[in-house]
Amino acid sequence: MTNLDDSPRTVLEIQHLSYQYAGGCVALDDVSFTVSHGEVVGLVGPSGAGKSTLLMHLNGLLPDRRELRQRRTEPPSVIVDGVPVREDTLSDVRRKVGFLFQDPDDQLFCPTVEEDVAFGPLHLDLPREEVRRRVRESLAAVGLDGYGSRSTVRLSVGERKRVCLAGVFACQPTLLALDEPFSNLDPRSRRALIAILRDFPGAQIIATHDLDLIVEVCSRVIILDQGRLQADGPACQILSDQELVEKHGLEVPLRLRLASDHEAMHSTRSV
Ligand code: ADP
Repeated sequence: MTNLDDSPRTVLEIQHLSYQYAGGCVALDDVSFTVSHGEVVGLVGPSGAGKSTLLMHLNGLLPDRRELRQRRTEPPSVIVDGVPVREDTLSDVRRKVGFLFQDPDDQLFCPTVEEDVAFGPLHLDLPREEVRRRVRESLAAVGLDGYGSRSTVRLSVGERKRVCLAGVFACQPTLLALDEPFSNLDPRSRRALIAILRDFPGAQIIATHDLDLIVEVCSRVIILDQGRLQADGPACQILSDQELVEKHGLEVPLRLRLASDHEAMHSTRSV
């Protein structure tokens, strides 16, 4: 059947998601939003807002606590590219979601770079030649050509993050879920990672405290605070709203402050 609708397809659909940890902390409270193919969404909020908990729901990294998180009568749901995230669909979901942990040491566990990047595609039951091709191409995409035989423990943090990303890319995910991807990176590694993410054609959801990065990379931003969705809209518009961002423990990013100072200076001059 021909698709007459030109709008990009929905790759993430979250409906009425709540989550309470075993100790009683309500980390997510009735969160709903969708993300379309190609959209890059920044997820921001103060520490403890629920950002990591939300990301972990995208590929079922948390134990199912359905009886606690279901406060409404209709079932809460996380649907990735048409597949509901459930115990019995996890392998399918994890093919679609590339998850980058904040700390690369939580993600790297093979002795060499090549083995680590190959791990995901090998578990997708791809032919050896295809795995080798994907490893080669993914390492090249993150600027680590020729690193294949290097030991993962003898790399810098920036390089280890890039190896993790190569492993994620090698599985050709539909959606990237990135938890503080820029923490502990020097400016050069940060720029390299920004360039890599800009080239990724699929959807991305990036949880970070780095609001200048959001302005640079994301078209849309979601503010989460106390587990609730507080704002969702164009990144520059939301992050330049001083009252809104300060209310949620954030600051207007330097870039937007400078832009508005510049504008104010020009409008004063032209009076
Ligand atoms: P963020 O990523 O925005 O900093 P988190 O999702 O890590 O927020 O945490 C949301 C809330 O859930 C916080 O109050 C945090 O203390 C709590 N929390 C996170 N992990 C656990 C856990 N394993 N057990 C109990 N509470 C947790």
